[in-house]
Amino acid sequence: MRYDCMIVGAGPGGIFSAYELTKKAPNMKVAVFELGSELSGRRCPIDGDKVKSCIKCKTCAIMNGFGGAGAFSDGKYNITNDFGGSLYEYIGRKRAIELMEYVDRINMSHGGEGTKMYSTVGADFKKKCIQNKLTLLDASVRHLGTDINYVVLENIYSELSGKIDFYFNTPATKIAKNEHGYTVSTPKGDFEGDSCIISVGRSGSKWMESVCRDMGIATNSSRVDIGVRVEIPAVVFEHITNELYEGKIVYRTEKFEDRVRTFCMNPNGIVVNENTNGIVTVNGHSFEDPKRKTKNTNFALLVAKHFSEPFKDSNGYGENIARLSNMLGGGVIVQRFGDLERGRRSTKQRIEENTVTPTLAATPGDLSLVLPKRILDGIIEMIYALDKIAPGTANDDTLLYGVEVKFYNMEVELDENLETCHRDLFVIGDGSGVTHSLSHASASGVYVADLIAERFNKR
Ligand SMILES: Cc1cc2nc3c(=O)[nH]c(=O)nc-3n(C[C@H](O)[C@H](O)[C@H](O)COP(=O)(O)OP(=O)(O)OC[C@H]3O[C@@H](n4cnc5c(N)ncnc54)[C@H](O)[C@@H]3O)c2cc1C
Repeated sequence: MRYDCMIVGAGPGGIFSAYELTKKAPNMKVAVFELGSELSGRRCPIDGDKVKSCIKCKTCAIMNGFGGAGAFSDGKYNITNDFGGSLYEYIGRKRAIELMEYVDRINMSHGGEGTKMYSTVGADFKKKCIQNKLTLLDASVRHLGTDINYVVLENIYSELSGKIDFYFNTPATKIAKNEHGYTVSTPKGDFEGDSCIISVGRSGSKWMESVCRDMGIATNSSRVDIGVRVEIPAVVFEHITNELYEGKIVYRTEKFEDRVRTFCMNPNGIVVNENTNGIVTVNGHSFEDPKRKTKNTNFALLVAKHFSEPFKDSNGYGENIARLSNMLGGGVIVQRFGDLERGRRSTKQRIEENTVTPTLAATPGDLSLVLPKRILDGIIEMIYALDKIAPGTANDDTLLYGVEVKFYNMEVELDENLETCHRDLFVIGDGSGVTHSLSHASASGVYVADLIAERFNKR
């Protein structure tokens, strides 16, 4: 089969590339290859009854399939250059924001209308943060919620499915240059195309590494974020989440001057397992539907770890810490903040007696046996700093789940078009190392699609 453009991966990056190509070059023949299944076929076997925890499926329904890692996410589209990726370094701040706003308009016209846009501009809370050695980052946040996010994806899929060839359960195994463009090999056969967009996200990072090795594309890997997910009564953070939905707050620790930040805040949400390449870590969700809201809010506290030469495997470092928690707890560990401070493990009984009821069935344990001291010290310092702006955060009954690891894909060497050293071969989204969020990944997809459409239309 021959295509004008082949897209590998149907996460936000791949989907928005495909969407934009149908708008800007409707005559183009486009294929999308996706390792996972279509949206309706994505079912995690954990039902809380027969299957209580992750059984490490070969293809993770949470991470893979149409919608990518973002399909069951909280659907928070942060419109900002302050976090979520470094797309602006390639395409400029103005263009990056314009594209994120464009993505927002597409989401609104596909079922997202009526959802709320939050903003940090003019927030009084910003002043209070500064007074307590905390920094509130600037952003506009569109909160779709897990349920509306799903509806938007369904609508976009039904619009694209007649115009684009989707190949689900079809992992790309190899990409090679040929006389006219590229060959994508899959278990269903080889496909050829003039141009190729690779958008395989975090879950495709190992495969991406092999593509770069085979094709002589330079890469760099030096960062991983490690921490815990904090769960507290929703009322403790209500003044923040009601105004901002998600406050991105940064703290510089006194002891080591490390940067600790809040990440992925889920008001009235739930804590969930996440399976990355067979390693179980923790994450969070929340819902727009009032019936699905809980009494708790959760968010991650992450410490960024940057490595320098000669160490190159920052993700391997994070994976090994996560493996340690999996080894001790059989999965994710939960600990009361009071137990951590007293140097003792949490037990089933202490968790049962806790005033904050956990929303994830994790194994009670001791996070100090898992997390490096420097990281744990930073997290504890930040919990006390947050307690000043949200009293109650440092209560004994605050729950900490570990570990949460934010893996960064190695950075693929790309030019200002997000194009590799091979013409018409683009790498976008989280798989490129350029983005780490829904809005940046989606915007990167639109950006390269515009360029590919322009080249196609000029032929
Ligand atoms: C639980 C959870 C909650 C999140 N919440 C938010 C949030 O609220 N806001 C936010 O901004 N970000 C959030 N994120 C991050 C966000 O989902 C990602 O940044 C975003 O999905 C990246 O998009 P992407 O297209 O680059 O990659 P992905 O979404 O990871 O998509 C890549 C796709 O490529 C496929 N693939 C991989 N390898 C191959 C291969 N060899 N062949 C074919 N297909 C392949 C995968 O199956 C996957 O479907 C969350 C992530 C998780 C896991």
